[in-house]
Amino acid sequence: MQRKVGVVAVQGDYAMHIAALRRADAGVDVCEVRTPEDLSTVDRLIIPGGESSTVGLLMQRFGLGEAIIERAAKGMPIWGTCMGMILMAREVEGRDQYRLGLLDITVRRNAFGTQVHSFEDSVTVTGFGETLGVFIRAPIVTQHGPGVEVLATYGEQIVAVREGNRIGTAFHPELTDDPRMHAWFLSLDN
Ligand code: GLN
Repeated sequence: MQRKVGVVAVQGDYAMHIAALRRADAGVDVCEVRTPEDLSTVDRLIIPGGESSTVGLLMQRFGLGEAIIERAAKGMPIWGTCMGMILMAREVEGRDQYRLGLLDITVRRNAFGTQVHSFEDSVTVTGFGETLGVFIRAPIVTQHGPGVEVLATYGEQIVAVREGNRIGTAFHPELTDDPRMHAWFLSLDN
């Protein structure tokens, strides 16, 4: 089946995801998504890293958030990295910012604190084994519902989850040269 993958391109590291998708599959059909019309042309979606409060406001203003929620309800695979996972959460600790509520999780933004804003370390992801985790002012998952599968932890912290066709990672596989997570995301059934 021909896949067409969308990457939310409002702000953030969407170009890195597009490059990573091409590393995973040289012939992949990729589309930058900014509007509900763009979204209607794709069969799966990546929400990249960036600034969740800004992108949330813009998603709300342009109707993209509502359109994503509708497609998610029909089973479209969606993967959020870092900011993307924050936007997909049901709750953001201590903040009433716009979110999509697509993962039954509570996240804590910038959870690794000011001293280690950004770092890289190995993480083990269910189904993949070890990969390089690039954490940039990364969130963690502090609570989750029974339908949520924990895909990876870093120390005591939950840093990747899956709920059906929806995936959230606190780290950034698009900033590594390991194409396996992008290849796996492309293989998910719609
Ligand atoms: N700290 C950012 C936020 O809370 C996320 C950082 C990232 O996506 N790399 O929106």
